[in-house]
Parts: sequence; structure tokens; C-alpha cells
Amino acid sequence: MANSTFVISAPPVPTLPVTGSDALFPVHRIYCVGRNFADHAIEMGHDPNREPPFFFQKNPDNLVLSGATIPYPKRSSDVHYEIELIVALKSGGEDIPLESALDHVYGYGVGIDLTRRDLQGEAKKLGRPWEVGKAFEQSAPATALVPASQIGHPDAGRIWLSVNGDVKQDGDLNMMIWKVPEMIATLSTLFKLEPGDLIFAGTPAGVGPLKTGDVIKGGVAGVAELDITIG
Ligand code: MN
Repeated sequence: MANSTFVISAPPVPTLPVTGSDALFPVHRIYCVGRNFADHAIEMGHDPNREPPFFFQKNPDNLVLSGATIPYPKRSSDVHYEIELIVALKSGGEDIPLESALDHVYGYGVGIDLTRRDLQGEAKKLGRPWEVGKAFEQSAPATALVPASQIGHPDAGRIWLSVNGDVKQDGDLNMMIWKVPEMIATLSTLFKLEPGDLIFAGTPAGVGPLKTGDVIKGGVAGVAELDITIG
């Protein structure tokens, strides 16, 4: 109905800035890929040859822009960093063929899949959903997006994260089990992808805990660099 009003004020559309533009990228959903690097699957106690990657979600309003100081997340004493490539979609669909999957990509960014590991571990043990471990306030620090028209579609390059200057994660995008086209094609068999969807593409080995006062820096070569302080 054209003249409908809202009974409460409508929530704002979550957005990410775009490098080199004043216009914003509106975020629809955030999908995350679990265990997409063999070395991280192994460090978490899984066999990458037997268990393929999988998906979970964060909430779009869990995004927080690089440069922010964020409070130590509530109800956890074991919050972990996971540096990840972000894939931003400009179009979508269902059952997207592998060959045309990259045509749907607007651009790329860098994010951290902040994880309340203690709450996630409890959920895993009890067979419960992961939201308490993954989809909490400010759990998705992210950089501005860089359009693929400027950088192409990176399929290799260093992905790294440091805490207080010590490098903790140091991998390469070419180690991803599902490459970006496979993520998009597979995800589109499960969900209808839409313009504005983000995919957090999974993390390499070296995840670990954070504490108040930590300064986190990270990046993907050729894409962007991110910094966040826990304060
Ligand atoms: Mn992750």
C-alpha cells in the first residue's frame, strides 16, 4: 500500500562505504562460510577432507566500520578474531551457474568474523544454533568496499591479521577450499541471493582470543586493510 506508514520508526538500512565514492552500499544479508581454509578446519579439530565448508549468518546491523573502538562483547570471556575476505553482491538469483557467478560481484572488502568462542562451543556441544556465538552486536567489523571494476576478482594474495603488532594469521586467498564463484553458486542453491548480500569468505589458521585494549590490524593484499581496537 503506497501510503502505509510504520507503527514504529523504520530501522535504518545498514550500509558500507565504497572506496572512491560518496555513495553507500546497502547491505541486505550477511552470509558467512565456515571452515573454508583447511588449516583452520584442522586447528578447530575437523578433517577438511571429510567435512566441506558450510554457511551461517550474521545480522546486517552487526557491521561496524574499520577504525572503530568497540567494547569487549558481552557474556563472553573468549572472544576470537577471524580475518576474512568480504564479497559484496550487486545482483543475485537462485541456482547461479559457476561460470557466471562472478558477474554478480560488486566488489570486495575485508572483515573480521568476531566470535564468542565459548558460547559457540557450548552451542556446538548441545546441538544448538550458533547465533549467540556469531551474530551479536558489532560482531562484523568491515572496511569500505572496493569495486571489482577497480581491482578485478582477487583469487590469490596474502590475508593476515595482527594483534598489538604480532602477526597471528598469515594465509593466502589461494588456500580457500571454496573459491568465490563456488561460494556464490553453492549459496544460491540454498537461498535466493539478492543485491546487497555480503559473504564473509572464511578465515585461515591462527585464530585466537582478544582482550580489552587490543589493537587489531588485518588485511587482504590488493583489497583493503582494517583496524579495530577493543576498548
Ligand atoms: Mn569465520
